Amino acid sequence: ATPTSIMVGTGRAAQMGVLFRKGEALQQLKDTKVVAVDKTGTLTQGKPALTDFILAAGSDRSSVLAAVAAVESRSEHPIARAIVEAATGEGLMLPAIDNFTSVTGFGVQADIDGHRVQVGADRYMHKIGLDVALFEDEARRMGDEGKTPLYAAIEGKLVAMIAVSDPIKDTTVAAIKSLHDLGLTVVMITGDNRRTGEAIARKLGIDQVIAEVLPDGKVLAVKRLKEQYGLIAYVGDGINDAPALAQADVGIAIGTGTDIAIEAADVVLMSGDMGGVARAIALSKATIRNIQ
Ligand code: ADP
Ligand code: MG
Repeated sequence: ATPTSIMVGTGRAAQMGVLFRKGEALQQLKDTKVVAVDKTGTLTQGKPALTDFILAAGSDRSSVLAAVAAVESRSEHPIARAIVEAATGEGLMLPAIDNFTSVTGFGVQADIDGHRVQVGADRYMHKIGLDVALFEDEARRMGDEGKTPLYAAIEGKLVAMIAVSDPIKDTTVAAIKSLHDLGLTVVMITGDNRRTGEAIARKLGIDQVIAEVLPDGKVLAVKRLKEQYGLIAYVGDGINDAPALAQADVGIAIGTGTDIAIEAADVVLMSGDMGGVARAIALSKATIRNIQ
């Protein structure tokens, strides 16, 4: 492609709310066969709400929820906000906490009156030597409903299972369909539970799910997809997406996402959803075709 045609193409894209930070991306998009997509905040709203709170026998609901929310009040994760809002919405007072620690990709812990409180994914419970089989049926059901199952332990004893649900953005179904119409394969990459990821993928017709990815695993997943398929685009919004955005042949950031994601990306979508991805690819094909 000539510099002039690239300028015309990127100018046209800008009118459609697709900002090319690198002209090279316009040339690469036309040959892209796979679009890898972050789940939370890209396919979904990134605003989960607490939907279920199931106690183990012998535990008191208010005191467990207050303890869990107190620990989560120090976390930046969207899941944390959902739990804190649920507790404060019930008028619960959150106790003081000490020794807060966030175990990235697993969960959080802190002490309340000298008692250790731990909250997180099943893999966090496994890491601290707890078995979550008690809630196996509930966790499976919630996962299949697209909810994220979490667990709480106090003093090394499992006390509750919690589920949060993050609604899919209104525009996501159409965005995925447009990508399929262009013949692309769509892959979801998520740190979330496998069943949860697969349930959401099923609703959206997403072709492949890479789930339970640890924080630095997204880059590795993109590397593997490149080896397998060739040119890869990656769409994401979060701080934890930046390395994958840089690793992909074309990194595409959601404009309403974090500055760090935007800086790492080659393309920025102004609309706040992924509708622009198919538009950018179609435009890339049209631009490059016109000048060959
Ligand atoms: P994602 O952004 O896809 O959720 P993360 O690596 O941030 O990926 O988190 C992976 C999983 O770790 C979450 O789905 C959740 O189960 C658990 N987790 C992370 N942070 C917290 C937290 N503050 N409270 C409870 N669980 C958490
Ligand atoms: Mg995200």
